[in-house]
Amino acid sequence: MRPHAQKRGLTMKYLVLIPDGMADEPIAAFGGKTPMQQAKKPVMDALAREALVGTVSNVPADMVPESDTANLAILSYDPKVFSKGRSPLEAVSMGIEMAPDETAYRCNVVTLSDEGEAYEDKIILDHSADEITTAEADELIKALQAHFGNAERHFYTGVSYRHCLIRKNGNDRYSFMRPHDILGKRIGDYLPRAEDGGAEFLQMMRESFEILNHHPVNEARRARGLKPANSAWFWSPGKKPQLPSFKEKWSLNGAVISAVDLIKGIGLCAGMRSIDVEGATGNVHTNYKGKADAAITAFREGADLVYVHVEGPDECGHRAELENKVISIERIDAEILAPVLSYLKESGEDFKIMILPDHPTPIRARTHTIDAVPFFIYASDATLAGVDTFDEATAAAKGNYLANGYQLMEILTAN
Ligand SMILES: [Zn+2]
Repeated sequence: MRPHAQKRGLTMKYLVLIPDGMADEPIAAFGGKTPMQQAKKPVMDALAREALVGTVSNVPADMVPESDTANLAILSYDPKVFSKGRSPLEAVSMGIEMAPDETAYRCNVVTLSDEGEAYEDKIILDHSADEITTAEADELIKALQAHFGNAERHFYTGVSYRHCLIRKNGNDRYSFMRPHDILGKRIGDYLPRAEDGGAEFLQMMRESFEILNHHPVNEARRARGLKPANSAWFWSPGKKPQLPSFKEKWSLNGAVISAVDLIKGIGLCAGMRSIDVEGATGNVHTNYKGKADAAITAFREGADLVYVHVEGPDECGHRAELENKVISIERIDAEILAPVLSYLKESGEDFKIMILPDHPTPIRARTHTIDAVPFFIYASDATLAGVDTFDEATAAAKGNYLANGYQLMEILTAN
């Protein structure tokens, strides 16, 4: 693969846009098209026509295609070296100071079936408890803290269903199951096992059902026709990763814009600015325009590289929401890419735009897959032979395959 033939001036600006989980597979309801092919995304396609286009593996073959792994790679950090799980990244973004002897665990509040069956026989119905509000979840997390908290364990409220347990001298080797990968399944087959060192977590999960199932917050949710958040689910343990500074690596002031704690955490661990956007929810109804405004403001305030991560397509993939996945891609094109591109053009400076999903989240699979994803790198001062429309098939057909996503930044910033 040949990098763009151009020099990096002091004024070069970089937009990295990550439509999370955008890549997919052919879908019968779309006549064999993928959501990327079905979506009308004229701005993305116009850039791809003159861009370096290819495919890239962000996640090493023997690792789990989680968002932390993939986004670490795109930001130039080899996941094999730096991936310590998502929870410590989320903890950092929540402002938790993590000591070296502390382990962070993601603590979802999930919905389990409630038919009077034994805990092991319950079915996991929703990993997000109908995307419970943060205010409701805060009460539940406080109840868990009151019951389980001690000198070594502390629960912290995050956002919606995504929370954090910090454990001193915790076990970060044990492999916990990801709740979004076992929807509809009997949990007994996936719970932490005492013989693997998971006894403490198994016990807390069992007891959490007793604490949460009839908590007033959940009774009120049931009355409103919403799923209760009636169990804690622990996963992704890890210690804080020690990332080399992004600025020192690339001589670029970087900013990260995301609704997702773990993406913010990667940015913060890498010494980048993390910019919060009001109304950025992480779902299909996220505040797209707010992300565009924030990116433009970040450039105005001196950022050289702005990393805009949009969760919408990924959530639609997990929920198998076909039409919404297409809509979220179209809205990213019209409401984020178009205005930021206009700003960059009007700024009069040279700029590059790199667009890629971190990983596929196919509607069929309803979870992430490890497959390579399409990417393009557009440079305002170079016209390359790209592709007519930017999608999985056209990108693969270019024959530019990059085996290590962590090398993308080198190509993006190459002279
Ligand atoms: Zn996802």
